[in-house]
Amino acid sequence: MMLEKCSFCKKGECIKPVKVEKNHPGKAAAKIRIEADGSYFQINQDGGAQKLEKAKITLNDCLACSGCITSAESVLITQQSHEELYKMLAFNKTAAPNEQKLVVVSVSPQSRASLAARCKMNVLETAKKLTTFLKSLGVHYVFDTTFSRNFSLLESQREFVKRFRKQSEDKKALPMLASACPGWICYAEKTHGSFIIPYISTAKSPQQVMGSLVKGHFAEQQHLTPDQIYHVTVMPCYDKKLEASRPDFFSQEYQTRDVDCVITTGEVLRLLEQEGISLSDVDPAPLDTMFSSITEEELTSHSGGGSGGYLEHIYKYAAKELFGIQVDTIQYKPLKNKDFQEVTLEKDGVVLLQFALAYGFRNIQNLVQKLKRGKSPYHYVEVMACPSGCLNGGGQIKIEGESSKDLLQQVEKLYESLKTEIPEKNQTVNELYEHWLGGMDSEKAAKALHTEYHAVEKTSTGFNIKW
Ligand code: SF4
Repeated sequence: MMLEKCSFCKKGECIKPVKVEKNHPGKAAAKIRIEADGSYFQINQDGGAQKLEKAKITLNDCLACSGCITSAESVLITQQSHEELYKMLAFNKTAAPNEQKLVVVSVSPQSRASLAARCKMNVLETAKKLTTFLKSLGVHYVFDTTFSRNFSLLESQREFVKRFRKQSEDKKALPMLASACPGWICYAEKTHGSFIIPYISTAKSPQQVMGSLVKGHFAEQQHLTPDQIYHVTVMPCYDKKLEASRPDFFSQEYQTRDVDCVITTGEVLRLLEQEGISLSDVDPAPLDTMFSSITEEELTSHSGGGSGGYLEHIYKYAAKELFGIQVDTIQYKPLKNKDFQEVTLEKDGVVLLQFALAYGFRNIQNLVQKLKRGKSPYHYVEVMACPSGCLNGGGQIKIEGESSKDLLQQVEKLYESLKTEIPEKNQTVNELYEHWLGGMDSEKAAKALHTEYHAVEKTSTGFNIKW
């Protein structure tokens, strides 16, 4: 037996036992040694070391272990692909005008940075050329999920402060755990269910806030019902397809999802290849501004790293709101590895706030174990399933001949090249709160910007993962 990483979700810590033929029958294995480069050696009883051959785990293999992805989820994933987008665009070309759908594509900033690295262009050029390309296929609007992330960050900030204030009466108010990563949510619901769910922030991810905006406000503006819009997102991972498929994001009334189809960054590249188009040769188009954070032909981003900057925004807001302390820069303290870092706010030797970011399943497991033992010192944790976060998502583009480390650095540099904005200062966001949602604390705002989680019953198979 040897253990191998799953090639589907790329989170790297999901492991499944695989049978490997022994080259030396009759000699019992004493132990397995794992080298720093990830290769496995079987140490035989005679002291000799034998390198074990690698076994690939595909999505189909994954289906055997209910700890990660189920066959129903695999169907949901295949229902959302660039082929599905093609089908919708082809349908629009032949359908009667009153049956055609308005096609909206919302692009994540992580995907844009990955495409920019692949095409050796800056992020703005990439956005403009991608807009031209998508529109040439029949897409009507191309938006940017940085805009919807403003709502996600603002709601997370306010939720944290509310939870902090009620921590003495609600033992599970803190730590608040991030909610934007569906890989983490999927694991939490399946593996730790009702124990962990109360800790998870209810704020919707940028993808799902965009879903509310497009099928809610934008549909109203266009005088369309939500089912007359086909909403596609471009995301850095496959897990976003599962997120879009959650029943919580389905409208029974209109029989439509907030996000109809999620395609990965890699699938956008496949679209380009199928069309025989190189993005760098495409003419740039003006950016659609309806819901994007674009002003005067500029793109913006948020500070705090490639996974959205949740820790940073919540930390600064909470320091000011709860303790009247203005924090301008944040000092991260790496713990066991670069994917587990801590930030502490102290005054007169007293710890006021202690936040952490935990990326990748190894760190998530440690965090959950600490929580279970009542040993977690944190008030908030930015939890992300992928090592190095969203810029390193499993759906991002790989470049042949480029090491994944170098490529990630390029993508990070491009992602960070944009001017950052402060969600509180975005006028359009404030207006939407007021006019579309009827205020920050309205019922409509709660429905459009928050969600809930559901513990998943464990099924027992011989391959269940022990986390
Ligand atoms: S860390 Fe980001 S890219 Fe990775 S699974 Fe979570 S949301 Fe997707």
